[in-house]
Amino acid sequence: MRAAVLYEANQPLKIEELTQDPPKAGEVRVKMDVAGVCASDFHVMKGTATLPLPVVLGHEGAGTIAEVGPGVTRVTPGERCILSFVSNCGHCRMCRTGHPQLCDTNAKTGARQFDGTVRLHRGETDVHQMAKLGVFAESIVAPQQACHPIPDSVPMHVAALIGCCVTTGVGAVVNSPGARPGATVAVFGCGGVGLNAIQGAKLMNASRIIAVDIYDHKLEFTYRFGATDVVNARETDPVEAIRELTGGGVDLAFDTFGSALTTANAVNALGKGGTAVLVGLGATGETAPIDMVDMVRNQKSLVGSYYGSASPHETFDTLVDFYLKGSLDIEGLIARTYSLDQINEGFDALGRGEDGRGIIRFEKG
Ligand SMILES: [Zn+2]
Ligand SMILES: [Zn+2]
Repeated sequence: MRAAVLYEANQPLKIEELTQDPPKAGEVRVKMDVAGVCASDFHVMKGTATLPLPVVLGHEGAGTIAEVGPGVTRVTPGERCILSFVSNCGHCRMCRTGHPQLCDTNAKTGARQFDGTVRLHRGETDVHQMAKLGVFAESIVAPQQACHPIPDSVPMHVAALIGCCVTTGVGAVVNSPGARPGATVAVFGCGGVGLNAIQGAKLMNASRIIAVDIYDHKLEFTYRFGATDVVNARETDPVEAIRELTGGGVDLAFDTFGSALTTANAVNALGKGGTAVLVGLGATGETAPIDMVDMVRNQKSLVGSYYGSASPHETFDTLVDFYLKGSLDIEGLIARTYSLDQINEGFDALGRGEDGRGIIRFEKG
């Protein structure tokens, strides 16, 4: 089984042959069809987020169930699935209180399976799987909870993107506190998640959707997903521009980039009573300067959103329905297609700030 392995930060991924254990109790083997190239993988490659090494990255993907381990009841071989990057245990406090995307057991076991062991090896060396998936591999062994079956009418490249950027971006908007038709919205960062926050704002029927980025070509690309106005933050102060466009600030602002500056800008761009939602992952330990008096006097809120702020499986079904009735453009997000061997080119394009999403397509058979 071939996979792209990260041995060290700031080194290219190495395509290697790995040994894969069969699925244990409650686990399945999934043959990968499509994987998405996401900024969260890139953070680990650059060392601004850490995972135990060596690791197979990749947490956005779709595949077909190839084999099931003992006790698997949720899926059967041949089913086509969206993969969730949070497998929830079902009995920790977060799972019990209706927040499976925040499962404590999943967080505790991280890049290992629920029993604390790994399924991949290179000789004597254990190899981890990002988010219990590691979808930059021809096949993966993962918990059955990661797999969400989909109808045959959903293409695998669409299913893959629902696994991370569509759910994260659309969910952050439609499930945010203060989401309502007619709200004014600003979206900072127009990558995979940002474009989907824009689509989410359109689905919510926002009256104004202001896209902010530092690349004109990325801003131009946002119009087809529903942006009504664009601001190049390299040329114009985005906070002033947003205040001017909306007569005092937006109701909802989303930081899909994830930096001290963009988070502070999102809060500053709010009107009174507005809510800023932090969606993008910054570097581990990064903090943002927030004007505390402004928060109080203008009754602003700042909240975080993880994996669409809701149960991923619930959101997947909703997004599949939206896609099938034509109200979500997922194909239009895909700008580049690579083979597994070309994966480092995919991350180079992401690093250069190219438009839209890059995907890896695995060979059939
Ligand atoms: Zn992602
Ligand atoms: Zn749990």
